[in-house]
Amino acid sequence: MTVKKTGKFYRRVLAAAAILLALCMAGCGPIASSSPLTQREMGNEAGTDLRVHFIDVGQGDSTLVEKDGHFMLIDAGERDQGEVVASYLEKQGVKKLDYVIGTHPHSDHIGGLETVIRKFEVQKVLLPEKEHTTKVYERLLDAIADKNLKITLPKPGDSYSLGDASFQIIAPNKDYGDNLNNWSIGLRLIYGKNSFVLCGDAEKDAEKDMMANGLPLKADVLKLSHHGSSTSSSEGFMDLVDPEYGVISCGKNNDYGHPHKEILEMLKKRNIKALRTDQLGTIVAVSDGSKVTFPEITEGTDGDRSQGTAADKDYVINTNTKKFHRPDCKSAASMKEENRKTYKGSREELIQMGYEPCQSCNP
Ligand SMILES: [Zn+2]
Ligand SMILES: [Zn+2]
Repeated sequence: MTVKKTGKFYRRVLAAAAILLALCMAGCGPIASSSPLTQREMGNEAGTDLRVHFIDVGQGDSTLVEKDGHFMLIDAGERDQGEVVASYLEKQGVKKLDYVIGTHPHSDHIGGLETVIRKFEVQKVLLPEKEHTTKVYERLLDAIADKNLKITLPKPGDSYSLGDASFQIIAPNKDYGDNLNNWSIGLRLIYGKNSFVLCGDAEKDAEKDMMANGLPLKADVLKLSHHGSSTSSSEGFMDLVDPEYGVISCGKNNDYGHPHKEILEMLKKRNIKALRTDQLGTIVAVSDGSKVTFPEITEGTDGDRSQGTAADKDYVINTNTKKFHRPDCKSAASMKEENRKTYKGSREELIQMGYEPCQSCNP
């Protein structure tokens, strides 16, 4: 490790190490391999759905995970999004956050965390072992100190419980020097047969190490790393995660051109449904432990499951772009009146007529 062992960050970490034994005895540390995790994995008859909210924070990341009244927040967008995230959390009934994770010290991830940490009761904060010199990072450490919280360092392989769901740390796997993106905390969230992978802005180097560490990566939903940038989502990594849905958190017309065209093409080629916060706003995924749905977006149309008796449905078609949409799709609402038509029928008929399904609403 070439990281300088000074400053507030390390004082927090050392304090955390000092109470590690106490934490373990209190049973709120990482789940040891001999702990009753298997019981959690097996039965969840009394459990409620797992909900993963990809909160629209413009160009940035913020994900709220909710299970059985337990909450985890991963990132909170730029500093000016702190209030947006806090009020979203309030609306979801959050009083206490079991976990707050700052994936890496870039401001589009940790900027809003200061506000959130000051506003809510927080049990555990995870940050990667990488200091940064910015004001926004200092403010985060101050908020953590003021609330008397300790920083927990992520260790690949460690598992934590969230209600009767759990998550396993899959990154970072080594010292990435000054590449902050590669320091991103990556995790795989698991509930029953469903899983989600989220890795902040981890780039291809970090993905290579995740592939090498031997921990499972398969997921139903992948939050595309680095806002859909081509610095991330290497072919090998995508092969292992092999998701059905790819969520991209990015701002409308952002300065970076995220998501990059190559990534959208790669998703299309792999038949992965792309869901973007710049097009859909906040995206909520729901898992009952056996399947993942996006009730506000793809209700009743995810995949070709049994309800798909080729029943007639209403679609909105664009006679100019030759795309068809679900009636509630945002781009359906914004299209020019003269190109807009309502169509009642099946998607097969539309495809035969030369229409293409919209990539964001997946009709
Ligand atoms: Zn970053
Ligand atoms: Zn970022």
